[in-house]
Amino acid sequence: MNKRIIPALAAVLLMAAPFATQAQRKVDKTPRLAIKTDERKMDAFIDKLMAKMTLDEKIGQLNLPTGGEATTGSAVSTDLESKIKAGQVGGVFSLTTPDRVRKTQELAVNHSRLKIPLIFGQDVIHGYKTLFPIPLGLSATWDLGLIEQTARIAATEASADGLNWAYSPMVDISRDPRWGRISEGSGEDTYLGSQIAAAMVRGLQGDDLAANNTLMACVKHFALYGAAEAGRDYNTTDMSLHRMYNEYLPPYKAAVDAGAGSIMTSFNDINGVPATANHWLLTDVLKEQWGFKGMVATDYTAINELIDHGLGDLQQVSALSLKAGVDMDMVGEGFLTTLQKSLQEGRVNEEDINRACRNVLIAKYRLGLFDDPYKYCSEERAKKEILSKAHLDFARDVAAQSFVLLKNENNTLPLKKTGTVALIGPLANTGSNMPGTWSVNADLKNTQSLLAGMQEVVGADVKILHSLGSNLLDDVAYQERATMFGREIPRDNRSEETLVAEAVATAKQADVVVAALGESSEMSGESSSRTDLNIPAVQQRLLAALLKTGKPVVLVVFAGRPLTLTWEQANVPAILDVWFGGTQAAKAITDVLFGDVNPSGKITATFPKNVGQIPIYYSHKNTGRPLAEGKWFQKFRSNYLDVDNEPLYPFGYGLSYSSFAYSDITLSKTSFSQGDSIVVSVTLTNTGKMAGKEVVQLYTQDLVGSITRPVKELKSFQKIELKAGERKQVVFHISAEDLKFYNADLQYVAEPGDFKVFVGGNSRDVKEAEFSLQ
Ligand code: BGC
Repeated sequence: MNKRIIPALAAVLLMAAPFATQAQRKVDKTPRLAIKTDERKMDAFIDKLMAKMTLDEKIGQLNLPTGGEATTGSAVSTDLESKIKAGQVGGVFSLTTPDRVRKTQELAVNHSRLKIPLIFGQDVIHGYKTLFPIPLGLSATWDLGLIEQTARIAATEASADGLNWAYSPMVDISRDPRWGRISEGSGEDTYLGSQIAAAMVRGLQGDDLAANNTLMACVKHFALYGAAEAGRDYNTTDMSLHRMYNEYLPPYKAAVDAGAGSIMTSFNDINGVPATANHWLLTDVLKEQWGFKGMVATDYTAINELIDHGLGDLQQVSALSLKAGVDMDMVGEGFLTTLQKSLQEGRVNEEDINRACRNVLIAKYRLGLFDDPYKYCSEERAKKEILSKAHLDFARDVAAQSFVLLKNENNTLPLKKTGTVALIGPLANTGSNMPGTWSVNADLKNTQSLLAGMQEVVGADVKILHSLGSNLLDDVAYQERATMFGREIPRDNRSEETLVAEAVATAKQADVVVAALGESSEMSGESSSRTDLNIPAVQQRLLAALLKTGKPVVLVVFAGRPLTLTWEQANVPAILDVWFGGTQAAKAITDVLFGDVNPSGKITATFPKNVGQIPIYYSHKNTGRPLAEGKWFQKFRSNYLDVDNEPLYPFGYGLSYSSFAYSDITLSKTSFSQGDSIVVSVTLTNTGKMAGKEVVQLYTQDLVGSITRPVKELKSFQKIELKAGERKQVVFHISAEDLKFYNADLQYVAEPGDFKVFVGGNSRDVKEAEFSLQ
């Protein structure tokens, strides 16, 4: 880059001019989780410590190298030991087990001049060693208490194994299933995503960050990472401010309001300023508007990547990041190697470095590391807690609750516990695929495959036959890309015809076929975007052959995202989406298939009919040319020539082995004023033959706004359990607060006027009523 434009560019970026007018929004005063720290004592301690620190030692605290167990970029850290001893390291990422963590901590505590302990972080995403469903699956439970408990267990296990910092929760809203990382979040909805974000923070941090069984949360990826253009990972985002504030930013804010101790900047560009160098985002919004007092860390080598974004050389981008509000530099060592020079040249000042160093030290203080740097290393606790029976039993229950029954014609499911089942498909006999993406501590060798789990659960009652039927993918190189990190799928080099013929022969000997098809776990997650969201063609051909046998076929779909199951919906009698369910997935799938658990999951991201419909999400805006009721195509209306506008499965959709009937909505009144609220109730009846759970969802529509408003917005939900034949009145309260949104001036307001309220078991099939706000 032309050196002369750097100072000018820097000035523009630091001012973040396009956003400067938004800086004045007032600080949110929502109560934070109790952090049991005596702030005055802490400040005095840190003042005293910082007074002793050299500039190099302060910069050292900002450095976060990797211990090497998980790397997602090309850089790995070198010379860790000597850097720790020299006071050039603030924390270590991806180093675990009490013994290794203790030894590494000793280097800092016994050998560095000021003996400042290290923090130890890792991606503890959906469990530590006891793995729960991938976050997208977990969100399909719509059960906040249960989600919080998964995070509590993850923290209990990880903290026993030496960690004190989790790079979780991932709260990026995504409406693009091409993006592989949709698997790591809670789907498309702002309200649900915000509730889950807060539940995850509560679970990880507990109510005492200094306890030895809690972890500091790191909310990621700040911000808008899930809106990457074309669903291609790391890609640009460009978005209006009111869309940001209304739809994409609330989950991060909810996590901050829940007391999250740290936040991670995202890789993407935001309206021309990448998040990691975005002063408006990291300082104006996060710190000033939201009152965030924690630590800001970058994503993996995100500072260095600003060079490729075109913001300058390493010295330049490191200075920009620090100035923008970054405190810790993950892996790239831009801070370590350039900040001294930038200080001498006046590109950063001492206050910037002091601020960042203080934030890192505060995190360590709050974690209690200055009192006992080894408190998170306990062989005894690790042995007792990790993979305990209680954790595993809970994981089985959670997994079963995350599965979504997408179709069940003629009560094909549940299966009878007699006769013969043919379990067929490339995903039937692979244990290492069950935990799902981002499960770096999974015991891949000892995770049961569906075949093994089913055999164990049903025992001698059911005869289970198995054949592979097809490879995961035709293309060998694609299969290799889709099975990285030890996630193996057996590959059979015999011809497709031979494999299908073998499977068909197996199917013919059975009463029912269970086809385990879909994606491998590494076909979603980081750097795993796809443009074709069908079940791979070779597997679809197998499925067609199995259907031709005339046997009832149950499709068990493994996937880290919504897939385009249009052909399957039209042709297969029963479809169960099982995501990647974690350590106990195999048993949990068996529990649901054979009816020991009645499925109750509901999808949290819309399933499109084809990729061309993406982005497709329920809370879209109306156009000026909507289709007339009942029409799917009209000339000069907003539609496609080749497919209707409807999704394959709408947001919130999922079936049960029971059925539920909704009465009409009753309102306590039809009009209310700003300080007041309205009661909305429906009667829910279990009209099926089994006890079951239903997620009752409440949506509103603001019929006239100062800016255009979505056709529906989720505002509340309740998960209700009913015995067969049982009925219950389900009651919701709506206040003006629930109707607020950010207007064109980014004021958070509830505008008087008429609203619709909808209640139902998904975002499409709803009862409706109207009320007005005075
Ligand atoms: C990912 C983050 C993760 C980090 C550390 C990055 O590549 O984007 O989600 O926390 O690596 O593993």
